[in-house]
Amino acid sequence: GHNNAPDYLKGLNPEQRLAVETTEGPVLVLAGAGTGKTRVLTTRIAHILATGRAFPSQILAVTFTNKAAREMKQRIGLLVGEAVEGMPWLGTFHSIGVKLLRRHAELAGLRSDFTILDTDDVVRLIKQLIQAEGLDDKRWPAKQFAQMIDGWKNKGQGPVDIAEGDARAFANGKGRELYKAYQERLKTLNACDFGDLLCHPIRIFRANPDVLKEYHKRFKYILVDEYQDTNTAQYMWLRLLAQRPQSSPLEGEVPAKRAEGVAAGGTAQSSNASSTAARTPPDRASPGHPPLKGEGNQRHSTVNICCVGDDDQSIYGWRGAEVDNILRFDKDFPGATIIRLERNYRSTAHILGAASHLIAHNEGRFGKTLFTDRDEPEDGKVHVHAAWDSEEEARAVGETIESYQRQQHNLNDMAILVRASFQMREFEDRFVTLGLNYRVIGGPRFYERLEIRDAMAFFRVVAQGADDLAFERIVNVPKRGLGEATIRQIHDTARALRIPMLEAAAKLAESDELKPKPRAALREVSANFERWQKALENTPHTELAETILEESGYTDMWKNDRSVEAPGRLENLKELIRSMEEYESLRSFLEHVALVMDSEQNAELDAVNIMTLHSAKGLEFETVFLPGWEEGLFPHQRALDEGGRSGLEEERRLAYVGLTRAKKNLHLWFVSNRRIHGLWQSTIPSRFLDELPEAHVEVAESGNSYGGYGNSYGGGSFAPGRGGQGGSQGAGRQNPYGASRFDNVGAGNEKSGAFSNSYATPGWQRAQANRTEAT
Ligand code: ATP
Ligand code: MG
Repeated sequence: GHNNAPDYLKGLNPEQRLAVETTEGPVLVLAGAGTGKTRVLTTRIAHILATGRAFPSQILAVTFTNKAAREMKQRIGLLVGEAVEGMPWLGTFHSIGVKLLRRHAELAGLRSDFTILDTDDVVRLIKQLIQAEGLDDKRWPAKQFAQMIDGWKNKGQGPVDIAEGDARAFANGKGRELYKAYQERLKTLNACDFGDLLCHPIRIFRANPDVLKEYHKRFKYILVDEYQDTNTAQYMWLRLLAQRPQSSPLEGEVPAKRAEGVAAGGTAQSSNASSTAARTPPDRASPGHPPLKGEGNQRHSTVNICCVGDDDQSIYGWRGAEVDNILRFDKDFPGATIIRLERNYRSTAHILGAASHLIAHNEGRFGKTLFTDRDEPEDGKVHVHAAWDSEEEARAVGETIESYQRQQHNLNDMAILVRASFQMREFEDRFVTLGLNYRVIGGPRFYERLEIRDAMAFFRVVAQGADDLAFERIVNVPKRGLGEATIRQIHDTARALRIPMLEAAAKLAESDELKPKPRAALREVSANFERWQKALENTPHTELAETILEESGYTDMWKNDRSVEAPGRLENLKELIRSMEEYESLRSFLEHVALVMDSEQNAELDAVNIMTLHSAKGLEFETVFLPGWEEGLFPHQRALDEGGRSGLEEERRLAYVGLTRAKKNLHLWFVSNRRIHGLWQSTIPSRFLDELPEAHVEVAESGNSYGGYGNSYGGGSFAPGRGGQGGSQGAGRQNPYGASRFDNVGAGNEKSGAFSNSYATPGWQRAQANRTEAT
């Protein structure tokens, strides 16, 4: 009964509770932002554990980021009232994929200590292959092919699966061969790329039913967050794990035909062997929960899978995500319970109103209702601000943040969400000047810096001697007089003898094929690595790491470097060693770095969060700043160039994601001039601003930050080339969709009257007036 429900169920609304307590069979929660989908998943896991339905190791739970996985683990612990010992299968698709692949590496032709290559490695590797084919790598850029491979892998396609046209599109029809050569090369390197973390397990499962069966037995419950953004490979992977052949593991496969007959005709034609008990795999029977009635009539006996998502937040189409996956859930999992949540617990009525109104402009959507009880009189409207340029914007945002700070708001509760990562630099610069703490989440970060990548390359070779890419990166770092010719010779020897480059180098160092100087250098290199590899057994890994950087001369190299960056690089190297302390071995550290998606720097410090809109998915903050709402930046030019509806709609979903991250305060900005790739461009306010309902939005009072600009620009329109108003700047881009009520916002702040004749939408004036009355 409800009254003696455990604590973790209290406070859930009836629909949420249904989603938590319907533990058996397939469940889909399809609901808008902030309605508690993630909370439902977390509580559901707690419920499964608390009622003894499964052990932590029998739950497979997929989150979108590593950070989300950590948070979920923590919350489950709080809900269950004890530390959750090991949820080994809670993580991102990638981190779970690594784990699977390490266990069954040999089935993919790898050893379990394989290396995970990053994009940079992949591009270098492909470049070598392209050159080896005698192709011009300028005409056929490696980067482009790396992207093609990534796209194929997102679709779960190996070299034999790709479309003929795709294969022909690259390198005079050599696409397929190159892809094949690439996969073979990865095998010899004992390495894989990110896509392989999913594709290898899929292939392993398909080719080895007994292995798959093992996981069918293991995973009693499967849960997936952000289901709208799964790509085809992830979907295939999930289906393999979630859909079990109807037969019990003891019986062997039931032919599909007969299984269909059962589904269509009921029990009459079904074979005698298919008694209810036999059809139900033993692992389905959990204490006190007999198999559901009628289950045996389904073609597949389906695992207890629960997916949650929001089609309006599908923002990874460009990376191969298929929103269709969520829309056809009930076809994939017949008899699925579909639950909708409509109450938003996150945002104020103004924020929710603005977001709902905006997303309603998309045509291809399911449509949802959302309401909130958070409608308190003091809740402010969504603020829209104008600035002259991005420097001004960063300055004004900084000032707003400081004023929140003076009102006792934590920096941790504030976030700046940008459309493109280049926008970050301006904010970072500004915050450094102001002495405001900030952290960048999910961006190009620490581990991607040159000195860190070099150091990691040393470590990788020590941990895994066949890692030729890493070896090549540092064989001549610091400079030891090993020229291209020598390196080619190492290459050739390695290829001829089918051994790693490190071994080839050792061989060459002992032969007389090389001149004395490079020979001595190689001898030193291989002696070094031999020594370090031995030390790996019995030296603490942080100590070893330090030794490696010392003995290789790498630290000295930067100590002797007179450039301005050198001291910072030395600091970063120190920081790298520090960060290794948290890991028990060099290998687990390397794995962490390969996987890490979100930066953990300054996790304890009170700091403003800066990230892209894409990495903000699922998160929430008291106060959110959304800068750069201009045509060409947001919606992004790429989406506009596409011309079709779908690119623009994905941008709009991204805007919806951005708006719905805010709990209480939401500030949008647009500038009139932006420097893109070094060139100043006049900009037009984003159409998304026009799509916000006036009732929920107000143009911010002219702050001291930019009000002063009004005079210098004569009170003219801030937006060029729109509806004939900005004729003087006719060189600017033409507004493709008519006048915007934001055209004059910048000038309007002066209340000078100079702009009154050019108001595009009188409604906007009304909104202004109302706001003034209210204050
Ligand atoms: P998104 O689509 O952005 O991922 P979501 O649907 O996953 O959102 P959650 O992050 O789970 O939503 O929840 C949003 C906020 O509402 C959280 O702060 C959560 O704790 C709170 N919340 C959810 N359900 C309830 C409830 N029943 N009572 C009180 N607060 C709730
Ligand atoms: Mg969520």
